[in-house]
Amino acid sequence: MNIGLITIGNELLSGFTTDTNASWIGQEVSKFGGEVVKHITIGDTTDAIIAALDEASRVAQVIITTGGLGPTHDDLTADTFYIYFNDQPVFDEEYWSYLESRFQRFGRGIPRINRNQALKPQKGFSVPNPVGSARGLHYEQQGKHYFCLPGVPREMKAMMNRTILPWIKSQAGEVQVVKTLRTTGIAESALAEKISVDIKAAENQVTVAFLPQIIGVDIRMISPNKAWLDALEQRILPSIKPYLFGTGNQTLEAVLGNQLKAFGLTLAVAESCTGGLLSHRLTNTPGSSEYFPGGIVTYSNAMKMNILGVKEETLNSFGAVSAETAREMAAGVRRKTGADIGIGITGIAGPGGGTKDKPVGLVYIGLAVEAGTVAKKYEFSHDRETNKLLSTQAALNLLRKWLYERK
Ligand code: ATP
Ligand code: MG
Repeated sequence: MNIGLITIGNELLSGFTTDTNASWIGQEVSKFGGEVVKHITIGDTTDAIIAALDEASRVAQVIITTGGLGPTHDDLTADTFYIYFNDQPVFDEEYWSYLESRFQRFGRGIPRINRNQALKPQKGFSVPNPVGSARGLHYEQQGKHYFCLPGVPREMKAMMNRTILPWIKSQAGEVQVVKTLRTTGIAESALAEKISVDIKAAENQVTVAFLPQIIGVDIRMISPNKAWLDALEQRILPSIKPYLFGTGNQTLEAVLGNQLKAFGLTLAVAESCTGGLLSHRLTNTPGSSEYFPGGIVTYSNAMKMNILGVKEETLNSFGAVSAETAREMAAGVRRKTGADIGIGITGIAGPGGGTKDKPVGLVYIGLAVEAGTVAKKYEFSHDRETNKLLSTQAALNLLRKWLYERK
């Protein structure tokens, strides 16, 4: 089912608000057999809304708008719908009393300005809003369906979930199965090379997209038939196994957390150039205290020596950014905390501080376990924040590989 999406709001055009509604709706409708084939973003003007409704209805059977449903003068979407569908809304006394009691419950009187939210269409239908006061609209014209929803993401989602998505599901003949495989530690082109033959062989059955991000590449597969999708997955798994860490929207840190829990292992980290970002990522997972006793940020040489026990001669002979220091940091934090696994990160995030021998982006990561300590060298060549993020990803990936080989 082809869907035209119109997101309305001056704040979307100026960039003050990121259009998260569009990405959410695009993903959700695809799970129910819908596909956004056109997305238009416009400001809050009647002319723009009318032009966008015309344009979207040329290519889509279902048109969804978000934004501009509120009670203020800049919210024009509902009025424009009434004009577009040549409708005369009527005042809905029953809904107005409901709104009045709703406001009273919050200890407030209802402003008169909200009266336009109690209008109800005559030719179309109201779409219930379980979490807010602005109801949506639903019109049918020449076999096409038009839905008008509020811009507030929480309200829009509640109405999509309650009314629109079930409706799309009931209308769509064929539901697409979607599966995302998440990889890290391999570039998009190298990954594509490994599985392009399999993808080509299944091209009439499964649509595959590579979605590269800074910290990994997602492989998204879409098919009308689950068996086709599963068959392709089974064919590509052996080639991507060393890089595959999860599916859907699982994060690497959450997947590793589950593995650490399953093995009954604990992890502590010592960070220099990442400034605590690895600890932040690890603690983004609820329940991380079960396997993460803590992290220490040791930025100066003195802290590396005093807190982690990095040796002065190591720092003098090899420098703070070296494999030796990374190993001693990892071993130090492991010893200090009694964790099963210690990770140490040291590097040059940039933009300054690089030399010919030790350029910006040079990072060493140490991994200390009972059997011994290793360190790995990385050369990232990005801006400061990206180098920090890539360093944490490399550290997690080093741990992932160690856990993988241990299995
Ligand atoms: P309200 O009753 O709050 O006036 P509304 O339907 O008029 O609802 P808007 O005024 O357009 O909605 O936007 C309300 C809030 O939702 C604003 O904070 C706005 O930034 C946010 N918002 C609007 N459209 C989007 C969008 N496409 N993606 C993310 N946020 C959005
Ligand atoms: Mg608005």
